[in-house]
Amino acid sequence: MMRAVPAELSHEVRLFHESKDVRFVLGRQVSELEGDGRVRCVRLDDGTVLPCTAVVISVGVSPRTALAEAAGLEIDNGIAVDRFLRTSDPFIYAAGDACAFEQVSGPRMRLECWKNAEDQGTLAGRNMLGSDEAYVPLPWMWSDQFDRTMQIAGQAGGSAEDVRRRCPDGTLLIYHLDKDQMILGISGFGSIREVSRGVRMGQLLMERGIRPGRKALADPEFDLRPLAKAAVA
Ligand SMILES: Cc1cc2nc3c(=O)[nH]c(=O)nc-3n(C[C@H](O)[C@H](O)[C@H](O)COP(=O)(O)OP(=O)(O)OC[C@H]3O[C@@H](n4cnc5c(N)ncnc54)[C@H](O)[C@@H]3O)c2cc1C
Repeated sequence: MMRAVPAELSHEVRLFHESKDVRFVLGRQVSELEGDGRVRCVRLDDGTVLPCTAVVISVGVSPRTALAEAAGLEIDNGIAVDRFLRTSDPFIYAAGDACAFEQVSGPRMRLECWKNAEDQGTLAGRNMLGSDEAYVPLPWMWSDQFDRTMQIAGQAGGSAEDVRRRCPDGTLLIYHLDKDQMILGISGFGSIREVSRGVRMGQLLMERGIRPGRKALADPEFDLRPLAKAAVA
């Protein structure tokens, strides 16, 4: 999960899975699936044999662009769109996993998560009707693990400082700050209630440009809601 999830959160998720008797085998490659019409075991590149009755393969996705290519649209690791989600044909828009959108700076990017697909779909619809709004992503993703959930909003990588808030029920929230203590992102793993509340609050603080400071963010007793409310009063 290291590509998408902060290392500390990955570690937390791993410990939780291990407490449920899930075994991790890292740094190994699968060399063979063996069976007799049905899979019976997985052989690893160090010779280890893992008996099994089912295999789940997770190898990532690539955008299906054949239709866009046939229509003569520009492709750039996905259907290339500008900041308004317009393809190289200004009468055709693209949104979601398959589209690679222009950012304010840096190369085009593709996001593969539900929230991005929903936000881009809505914006593309508005822009088709003449709205002319640029897409500014505030990425948000979730993943449920047993009875717990993980959520990440904003930018979790490249922070100058990470501030941890441990809630009384064990939920871990991590605020990712820039050098001026502005919140760039928030990630969390734990109970659905605390993670959802914490991440939503982090999103509000980000959207409103509020800097509560590391002491307030780290203290689970510190109520951040008045700060967020005051910013819109
Ligand atoms: C196993 C799995 C787990 C996931 N878990 C999460 C998660 O926990 N959290 C999260 O945020 N996101 C998750 N995602 C990602 C999320 O599902 C996607 O980001 C989201 O569905 C993207 O929506 P979309 O509309 O862009 O594309 P899709 O949902 O892929 O829809 C595209 C549709 O277009 C159709 N299509 C493609 N080509 C053509 C064609 N030529 N003609 C007609 N129809 C066509 C496809 O059949 C499909 O129905 C997960 C994805 C997978 C695969």
